[in-house]
Amino acid sequence: MIDQQIKAVIRDIRDFPKPGIIFKDITPILKEPPLCNDIVDAFIEQLGDTRVDVVAGVESRGFLFGLTLANKLSVPFVPVRKAGKLPYTIKQKVYELEYGTATIEVHTDAFEPGQRILIHDDLLATGGTVCAASDLIQEMGGIIAGFSFVVGLNFLNGKERITPISDNIIVLAE
Ligand code: IMP
Repeated sequence: MIDQQIKAVIRDIRDFPKPGIIFKDITPILKEPPLCNDIVDAFIEQLGDTRVDVVAGVESRGFLFGLTLANKLSVPFVPVRKAGKLPYTIKQKVYELEYGTATIEVHTDAFEPGQRILIHDDLLATGGTVCAASDLIQEMGGIIAGFSFVVGLNFLNGKERITPISDNIIVLAE
């Protein structure tokens, strides 16, 4: 099963990036091409007949599988980036972190109003990041088709937080 395969290769890094945090390091997945292919295939299978016009990947690890997924779905990929990285005209969203704020940005011509956007990231923790991405995309007229994640940390209740936006939530390993 894909969830077991993912869990077998990701590793826990203690006290990263701060003391007390156990960080799930997904980079060992990237060393296993068959698993990478299986992950994208699992997303496609679980999407079923969900209509997706655009995949939006959240910087930076959301780019890893987000682009491949978009390519395989034959739809455009849109990078949702941290402040100051995108060169063209942008729309931005400032959102709350545990301490302070963060900003994400999207190019203003990234997609058309009314298009159905799948938001993708490597990992769902509290859901704060993809909530902010959803707000930004919806403010630009996009419709949230669903969410996809390689890993989910259930104890942080991210799913509950994002279900009101779309209950089409794919988490391959939780
Ligand atoms: P959230 O906004 O709390 O859901 O945090 C999710 C975001 O933080 C994603 O962009 C993840 O890449 C990143 N993140 C949080 N915790 C981890 C982790 O343990 N491993 C990898 N990424 C993480």
